[in-house]
Amino acid sequence: MIKEILEYQALDAKLVSIEKEIASSPAKQTANKMVEYVKSAQQTLVTLEHNASKLILEYEKLNNQYQNAIKDVDKLSKQKFENLSKDELRENANLTTQINSNILNIERNIALLSDKIVKILKEFEKTKEQAKTAKLKFEQNKNAYNKLVETKQAAIEKLQQELAKVEKTVDKDILKKYKELRGDNKFPIFVPLINESCGGCVMNMPRARLDKLKANKILECENCHRMIYLMEDKDK
Ligand SMILES: [Zn+2]
Repeated sequence: MIKEILEYQALDAKLVSIEKEIASSPAKQTANKMVEYVKSAQQTLVTLEHNASKLILEYEKLNNQYQNAIKDVDKLSKQKFENLSKDELRENANLTTQINSNILNIERNIALLSDKIVKILKEFEKTKEQAKTAKLKFEQNKNAYNKLVETKQAAIEKLQQELAKVEKTVDKDILKKYKELRGDNKFPIFVPLINESCGGCVMNMPRARLDKLKANKILECENCHRMIYLMEDKDK
């Protein structure tokens, strides 16, 4: 009963090893990394675009202020000075100075804002370029990964055929349990009892569980859920 599933498992180990090689291939890891990179770059682009539109609004607001200030200066300069009193002239001169200083201020702010906008646009272009490179790198690595899968395909199919043959000799319930645990990244699934402990996770088994194992020949480990079997005398 145990012999057949162990034979099956030994064969399956070869398949697991190929699967691991494929799953841990650098090409796959790089491709996955590039996907993450492109996602984060897209997030950055959205943020930059949002910031740029905010700055452009601010720029338009300043530009309006600038135009209005210019108009005010223009209006002041067109006043007929001969009709004005001394106080009014002084006030007029003060106002002109104030508006002029305001204009300088606005110009300075516009220059600062322009710098910021240019910086954001540069950052935007840079991020876009990096995302493009990452996409290319993703494609290259995806192709490399697909090629790796392709080269392993024949070996995989051969093993699958062999497994299908051996499968017929294995007890149905045991095989069902095996297949349930197969996807859990636990290999080997069937492990011997070693020094009264699970051969997978080395958890010590209490007396009652040992008795149960002796009676059933197979018992699921309460800790790692592998199937523990008793080695037959000839195996020891
Ligand atoms: Zn265990």
